[in-house]
Amino acid sequence: MKKWEEHVRRVTPYTPGEQPCDPDMIKLNTNENPYPPAPGVRKALASLDTDRLRLYPDPSAGKLVKALACRYKVGEDQVFVGVGSDDVIAMCFQTFFNSGKPILFPDISYSFYPVWAELFDIPYETPALDGDFRIVKEDYFRDNGGIIFPNPNAPTSLLMAQKDVEEIVARNQGVVVMVDEAYMDFAKGPSALELVKRYDNLLVIQTFSKSRAMCGMRIGYAIGSPRLIRYLNDVKFSFNSYTMSLPALELGTASVADEEYFRETIGKIKATRERAGKALKEMGFVYPEPSANFIFATHPRHKAKELFEALKKRHIYVRYFNQKRIDNYLRITIGTDAEMEALFAALRDETGE
Ligand code: PMP
Repeated sequence: MKKWEEHVRRVTPYTPGEQPCDPDMIKLNTNENPYPPAPGVRKALASLDTDRLRLYPDPSAGKLVKALACRYKVGEDQVFVGVGSDDVIAMCFQTFFNSGKPILFPDISYSFYPVWAELFDIPYETPALDGDFRIVKEDYFRDNGGIIFPNPNAPTSLLMAQKDVEEIVARNQGVVVMVDEAYMDFAKGPSALELVKRYDNLLVIQTFSKSRAMCGMRIGYAIGSPRLIRYLNDVKFSFNSYTMSLPALELGTASVADEEYFRETIGKIKATRERAGKALKEMGFVYPEPSANFIFATHPRHKAKELFEALKKRHIYVRYFNQKRIDNYLRITIGTDAEMEALFAALRDETGE
């Protein structure tokens, strides 16, 4: 070890899903949207005045904040935007989880949460999901330093009922509760955004990456009480004032403007999810009721790891987690109908089912 390495900050990083450079692949491994962003996004990019790149972008991200505030019927002082929801959540961890008490999130959940907790030296505990992969709300009715959970949960795709979400928020008014709604647009809902008016300790986090098909642009946001948003902005401006680039502000705003395309795309993905569920069931797969743009499936007679590897050889990428309790499951992103048909043909072939 070199002398200088003695004082290097060591961390175990998050492992993102593979982004292979395979032109023939069917990519169902990172919950991307199979459809392009709204047509207005393409137009906004084509008409972007590159001379404006000479200037710093608006540090308050005003245009995008205004569009989101209007879309979700909240005040502009209730919206915080960041470089994908990963950036927003990381900022929230730094801003709100400082009590020294353990924060709580489910044992099977977004695997970035423990990474941020370690990075920021935040103690944490991970209450176990029950045997059906449901979050047990009572586990969150105890002293803690804050709470975060995805709804629908990832990678299970399961939705928690609004009354249970509300009970967790209501019973934890002494700490900040974050509901990570990366996949809520694909669920029957309702979103916890409805609760923001009543609970000033609630932050709802959403993203342009899934339902708006813009993960390449990196836009996420949090909506909550003006007090929470003010604290978040204070931390952001102490770190990097210009998190949102000019293209992100322009293209994000163009996306929000096209509500019809947004609904249409989500409708198509939900319809494909319905058909995909049936096809998987016919082959003998079982899965929790899916509420996100993915299905979390297991098969009683075929090992998930072997299927994952066999599919990969056929250039079909799904996600496999080598983690206790879920190591016999595949997380399958909903692609186009044609992509799903190719997946089912491959699975029928591999399983003989
Ligand atoms: N939360 C959950 C539950 C996710 O699955 C993801 C996607 N990996 C994110 C947040 C982050 O998404 P993004 O940074 O692209 O907005």
